[in-house]
Amino acid sequence: MKFNTKTIHGGQEHDKAYGAVMPPIYQTTTYAQTTPGEHKGFQYSRTLNPTRSALEKSFASLEKGDFGLAFGSGLAAIDAVMKLLKSGDEVISTNDLYGGTYRLFTKIYESFGVKFHFIGMDNADRIEDYVNENTKLIWVETPTNPMLNIIDIKKAASIAKKHSILLGVDNTFATPYLQQPLSLGADIVMHSATKYLGGHSDVVMGALVVKDEDLAERLYYIQNSSGAICGPQDSFLMLRGIKTLHVRMQRHCENGKAVAHYLNNHPKIEKVYWPGFESHPNHDIAKSQMSDFGGMVSFVTKGNNYQQAIKIVENLKLFTLAESLGGVESLSGHPASMTHASIPKEEREKTGIVDSLIRLSVGIEDVDDLMEDLKQAIG
Ligand SMILES: *Cc1c(COP(=O)(O)O)cnc(C)c1O
Repeated sequence: MKFNTKTIHGGQEHDKAYGAVMPPIYQTTTYAQTTPGEHKGFQYSRTLNPTRSALEKSFASLEKGDFGLAFGSGLAAIDAVMKLLKSGDEVISTNDLYGGTYRLFTKIYESFGVKFHFIGMDNADRIEDYVNENTKLIWVETPTNPMLNIIDIKKAASIAKKHSILLGVDNTFATPYLQQPLSLGADIVMHSATKYLGGHSDVVMGALVVKDEDLAERLYYIQNSSGAICGPQDSFLMLRGIKTLHVRMQRHCENGKAVAHYLNNHPKIEKVYWPGFESHPNHDIAKSQMSDFGGMVSFVTKGNNYQQAIKIVENLKLFTLAESLGGVESLSGHPASMTHASIPKEEREKTGIVDSLIRLSVGIEDVDDLMEDLKQAIG
């Protein structure tokens, strides 16, 4: 089945009771048993719920994996992965990680004795320099947030395989429409489904997909034991959003490209970060592991003036100033004061998150209107 069919049919079957074409919302916590232990496969909704199960099959199908798991948020999904580890274990991760992931790692898991190495991964060979016998996980995010750096998943996978380390990839920015990490050798793919998968800025949710059965069993055990699941109503909304993922992504990519080029030619813009430019340091890797370049574009103004950047995001009308990304509507963000405020200024500037950096999540509106809005806001 091709990807554009999987978004609609992947892992789905019509409702067994009445043939409903859309999966019913099984708003129930528990399930009748005829005699103790005899039931239809469902006992309690933390463990299994039919609407969530339908969604988990969709996740698995989209990412070419065998097992999908849905969580109450993207961070809950990463948290489940971290619970595979124990005190003394080490993790190698990228130094321009999503701010919330960085906070989870450093503020929660460091105090449980897990050690993290945050390194520049634009040259993935560097990962191997940090591997030792305690290394249990390599955690990659590509494209990264908000600098749109590209990390070579295949290379990271070959290092992980060589040393028997798990490789997890946060695929939130690319989505399986553009990039399928399991096929490139990753062990775990993770999503903040809150973003492009849901696509309508109305559900907070996380996803994991794996191929290996043992790993899946360990993760299902954690999912059930820790309990950070999502509800049936949200599962339904997510399934509904996923049905249009391919058409939305196609338009996000088209509009993203147009906006990136517009900004690149603007006299008041110093630099535009978008992996589709040939001048992007990892453009070739982006081209080889992604089918297009996505709808995220970041830029820095000339003079790197904080006040000027604030003015631009205030002036934008169609691009709503808000956290998050990946919805049908365009959003703008100022990472230094918003999404990445929890990363110390010194750390953040090392990775390019300077005071005037603005991040755009380019939506699927008419591109002429988006360009007009940028024009009036930048002046
Ligand atoms: C938003 C986001 C997360 C966290 O997901 P939540 O659903 O907000 O918990 C993780 N990684 C990336 C890249 C994100 O954009």
